[in-house]
Parts: sequence; structure tokens; C-alpha cells
Amino acid sequence: MVVGLASGLSWSPLPGTAGASGTVAPNSAVPFGDTTVGANAVSVPNAPIVGMAATHDGSGYWLVGSDGGIFSYGGARFFGSTGALRLNAPIVGLAATPDGRGYWLVARDGGIFDYGDAPFFGSAGAQHLNAPIVGMAATADGGGYWLVASDGGIFSYGDARFWGSTGATRLNAPVVGMAATPSGQGYWLVASDGGIFSYGDAAFDGSTGALHLNKPITGMAAAPTGGYWLVASDGGIFSYGNAAYEGSLGGTVLPSAVVGMAATPSGGGYWLVLGSGVLAGKVVGLDPGHNGQNGDDPGLIDQPVPDGTGSEPCDTVGTETAGGYTEAAFNFDVASDLQADLQTEGATVVMTRTNNAGEGPCVTTRAAVIDDAGANVAVDIHADGGPSDGSGFTVLEPVADGPNDSVIASSNVFAATLRDAFAAGTGMPVADYGGSVDGLVPRNDLAGLNLTTVPKALIEIGNMQNAGDAALEGSQSFRQAAAQAIANAITEFLDGPA
Ligand code: ZN
Repeated sequence: MVVGLASGLSWSPLPGTAGASGTVAPNSAVPFGDTTVGANAVSVPNAPIVGMAATHDGSGYWLVGSDGGIFSYGGARFFGSTGALRLNAPIVGLAATPDGRGYWLVARDGGIFDYGDAPFFGSAGAQHLNAPIVGMAATADGGGYWLVASDGGIFSYGDARFWGSTGATRLNAPVVGMAATPSGQGYWLVASDGGIFSYGDAAFDGSTGALHLNKPITGMAAAPTGGYWLVASDGGIFSYGNAAYEGSLGGTVLPSAVVGMAATPSGGGYWLVLGSGVLAGKVVGLDPGHNGQNGDDPGLIDQPVPDGTGSEPCDTVGTETAGGYTEAAFNFDVASDLQADLQTEGATVVMTRTNNAGEGPCVTTRAAVIDDAGANVAVDIHADGGPSDGSGFTVLEPVADGPNDSVIASSNVFAATLRDAFAAGTGMPVADYGGSVDGLVPRNDLAGLNLTTVPKALIEIGNMQNAGDAALEGSQSFRQAAAQAIANAITEFLDGPA
């Protein structure tokens, strides 16, 4: 519900809706509805913002960083922070007391830090946890709190009662947050796929569990009048029960992911909070192999071009599944998802083609586009046409040939990172054919790798001639998982492990 996109980062609400306009910045809160405190960004946080809480009267809010740094705005007062402490584990959330005169911070290991009039009721910090803590909620009178882990396990303290958990259930997606009911006699847990688990007096008013989400759910807030909102990392809002829809950041190009939200006491408004764009200032090159119309112009596509060690055709048509899903389309679909993921983290993305309706460009041009952009890292995206009884993915890495000499070592590091992240993120095994060693194959016959002057690897995402791999490739959820896994590898390579 956003119009008036001028620079791509400025926004204003639709005419007739409440809310302010402003700039969407990393590490900021963005207001909607009857909020009286506008957008505020932490200009130079020492650590990314990971959560927020509003004061009881809606007069202000706190933002918290993963180092426990607290930033207070409007009527929210500063009562202390862990910003100067050395933490055993990063902070993942906070909750405010009902009078707004204190707050708790919770760390991933279940450690609790209390400030102002927020009493300490206990923590899971000394326990061995099966899964990391991802959030917390306080009871209505502030006499207790719950912690929630990513497996849906619940830890209750003070007057917070245990109403149930998903700790013994096998979840389709990890739990990412929770919210208490206004009475404090129940709570909801929310998973990254938008699945909702309700306990105590928490009513189930709907979920996105059966929808296809563009982006994962990252937070939720309860409406004082009943119902709840879910927010996705792209700023999309899903409202249920009496929770009113007051606008969203869905459709806006964001500099970083939305990591949570907080509601006003009337239920007529909320803030969405953005984290850090860890890839801000980075340039990533993406080359989705082939192109949708390559078959129409053999004269152009078949012409030989020098590829650094010999010559090869300008481009090729690529393979396709038995069902007719072309590799060119698949490569472009994955690259498009990946582009969005990377832009959400603040990266500038350079694509060698911007649609799947053309011919070429030649592989030499593709390499030059990425080299000329000075990309910090690049990925060539393909799917293989191997023997029908072979399956799995392969990462191809460059071999020193002159132009690429200075990026062989870094490319090898990236290739191994990509291999590990792709296996972990998709569950697809490394190829059982084609002579790969642990999923890696050095290649000296491809222009994209021979001519690169930036760290680069080429991934063959499964074998389109294999029925099992083809079924995965045809699945949008698999393609999005593949894109996210590649994005994770790029982030780890450029920014260090998460
Ligand atoms: Zn290909």
C-alpha cells in the first residue's frame, strides 16, 4: 500500500490512509496508523537492530540492537542497556513493562537483562537449550514473562503460566516470535511460514500457513481489541481478527529486512522495524545462464568467441525438463528471487540479463558486465543436462589462466561456502555424477570463469534430465530456497558467518 516512490526509498501512504511519510532506512522504525511517534533511524549502531517495543501509552518506543544497545524515542525513556557488556550470546528481543518504566532484554541463550522497574523472574541462561531463544513476551501486569525458542519451546517465569508449546511437534518452519493476549492468559507463536499456534485464551483467527509467501514472517503483534498482525521480511502485513490493516511496506524497495513490529495501545496503528543492511555498499554480479529466445537466432548464438583458453559458442540454448521447463527460464527465476534477497540486505545487484525474452548476450559479454561493475562476488546460475540417473548440484570454480589469476583463491573460498550453504539451505545433495569431488569441479573451458576478474563460482542447480531434480526445479518453494541459500553464501563470504 505504498505510492509516491520517488528515489526508491522514500514512501508515503495511500491517500485516505493514516500514517506518515518518510524515509525507510536501515535500523529504523516506520510508523503506520494512529502512531504519534514517527520514523527514527539509528544512524550508526554498533550492531544491527533486531527488535522493538512500544511504551504502554504509545508515546514512544525502544529499538534494540543485537549487542543490547537501546535507542529510545518519543516518550520512551532509557533505563540501561547491555551495550557496554560482553555478551555470551546476541540479544534477540525485548519486552516492556506495562507502565513503560522498564524493559527486559533476552539473549539467544535465554539470558535475561532487566532495567528500570522490570523485575528479574528467572532466565534460561544457565540451561542447555535444544533450540535458540527467538523472542519473549510479558504478562499483562508485568509480573512475569515467557521466552520462546525456535522449536516452539516455551519457558515461563513469574506469573506467566505455561499454556502449551510446540516443543514436541515437528514444525514445517521455525518459530520466529510470539505475542501474549491482552489478558495475559494465553499466547500465540508464529513460524517463519506464517503458521500460528495458539494457546490459553489466544484465539486462532487465521494464518498464512497455507499461503505462498514471498518472504518469511519475521514478527507479530497482538491487537488490544483481539486478533493479531504478522509482518514479513519484505514489510508485508497480514492482519487477522480485529487487528486493523493500516498499511505496509510490501512493494517498497527496502534497504534491509523488516525484523519485527510493535502496536499502539489503541490497536489503530503499528511500527515496523528494519534491521541492518549487511550488504550495503556491496556489489553482487548475477549471470542467469542462456536466454529464452536463444533458439531463434543460431547465427548469433553459435558464433565462436574467444573464452580465454580457447573458444566456445557465443551462448547456447541450455537444457530443459521433460515437462518443457527451460533451463533459461529456471536460471532467470532463481536469479530474480536471489536479486530480491540481496537487495533486501542492501546489495547493489548487477544482472547480465534482465528478462527471459531475448537472445544472448555472449558469454564474453556476460563476464565483462560483471567485471566492469567491479562486483565483490559473482555467481553464474545454471541447471545441468546430465544422465537421467544422475542427480544433485555442482559448483564449478575457475582455474588460473591469466585474467583470473588474482581471484582463484577467493573464488575457491566462495565456491566451498556456496557448496555448504546450498546443501544446508535446500537439502539437495551434491551431484552423484560428473566427476565432482564433494560437489566442486574446477573448469578451464568456460568464459564466465576464465575471464572473471572478481571472485566467482558457477552453480549447476540439479539435473533437469533427472525426474526428481526436475520436480524440485519446477517448484517455486524450492527455487526460493535455492535463492536464499545462495544469498546466505554471498552474505557469509562478504560479511562473515551469521
Ligand atoms: Zn546452462
